[in-house]
Amino acid sequence: MEIRKEFLPFTLPTIEDEEIDEVVDTLKNGWLTMGPKTKKFEDEFANYIGCKYAISVNSCTAALFLAGKVLGIKPKDEIILPSLTFASTANIVEHLGARPVFADVDSTICIDPEDIKRKITEKTKAIIPVHYAGHPAAMNEINEIAEDNSILVFEDAAHAVGSEYKGNKIGNGKNLACFSFYATKNMTTGEGGMITTNNEKFAEKLRILRLHGISRDAWKRYSSKGSWYYEVTAAGYKCNMTDINASLGLAQLRKVDSFNKKRAEIVEKYNSEFSKTDVLSTIKSRENTKPAYHLYPLIVDFTKLSLSHAEFIDKFKEYNIGVSLHFIPLHLQPYYKEKYNYKEGDLPKTERFYNSVVSLPLHPRLSDRDVKYIVDSVIEIIQKNKN
Ligand SMILES: *Cc1c(COP(=O)(O)O)cnc(C)c1O
Repeated sequence: MEIRKEFLPFTLPTIEDEEIDEVVDTLKNGWLTMGPKTKKFEDEFANYIGCKYAISVNSCTAALFLAGKVLGIKPKDEIILPSLTFASTANIVEHLGARPVFADVDSTICIDPEDIKRKITEKTKAIIPVHYAGHPAAMNEINEIAEDNSILVFEDAAHAVGSEYKGNKIGNGKNLACFSFYATKNMTTGEGGMITTNNEKFAEKLRILRLHGISRDAWKRYSSKGSWYYEVTAAGYKCNMTDINASLGLAQLRKVDSFNKKRAEIVEKYNSEFSKTDVLSTIKSRENTKPAYHLYPLIVDFTKLSLSHAEFIDKFKEYNIGVSLHFIPLHLQPYYKEKYNYKEGDLPKTERFYNSVVSLPLHPRLSDRDVKYIVDSVIEIIQKNKN
């Protein structure tokens, strides 16, 4: 096959006139930081998810940290989470002074409820399921385990804007859910995050904690004092969203369903082509779920190839295609491995997945021609390097 001249990037944001117009409108009206557009974006996001409250912040990392704070995670608490996730899911546990306990994954590459049960101790305070690649984790089972053991749950929904679990959108459950609007995610605000909840008390605390611990409502409750009055009711943080970011979010949110539809069409195309070989597969969705397909993890049976995992990933350079890997397990990363004495073999399914996966490009700006080129390249690499 003919190698394309221009590089096909792993991911690209879809920024069109609507996004640009919305940002320019904000720049012209003069209110740059958190203001009317942020409020509007929160309202529209809550409406999209179907939940009561949405609290915007400047990243999903900040969202996860604040969720942990609001739930009262304290030093020495243990938090169970998958090892197969981005660094920040575990880093925020460290920032809270708590101890991350890594659990293995199930067949959808989300945290395995059976392994959660094995890892619960007297110190376990919370579970953080990650909806890997947009595939919803086994929330009914996880919530049941949590209830039985008086443990809290907050969800890393960075990949899951628009994912559905048993007919209900991720983020409209009983837990706090944290979304990411990083540039590579299903919708973007440049940088940004959102926490959704149906709990009014949590929503109120989150609004105070994200902006210096200042309670805007205190004066309303107590007195006839003017709007100049405010109270600092907690040593809060500075992680609010800005109206510039929210402008991008407003335009992206209107299109996220069409973005996700395009992603699903590409996934379908990849699946139908790759299932023609006995070397390639991908994650099968859990029953009664509708994933938002953030990533396309291509699973390769390397026993049938003469290439190693690293050599296979390297091959894509020759074809001018950007690929990635999600994720190098956290229990094998120097910081966590050394601090908590993890070793290879501790999480067998996680490690097996990591050693057999590569993430292919998956975003709405891929043309039919791009998708065909990626498929043809993968098939050619396989055919040229079969055992
Ligand atoms: C991207 C990502 C995050 C962090 O999101 P930010 O908005 O960049 O802080 C957290 N968890 C997972 C699984 C992610 O992919």
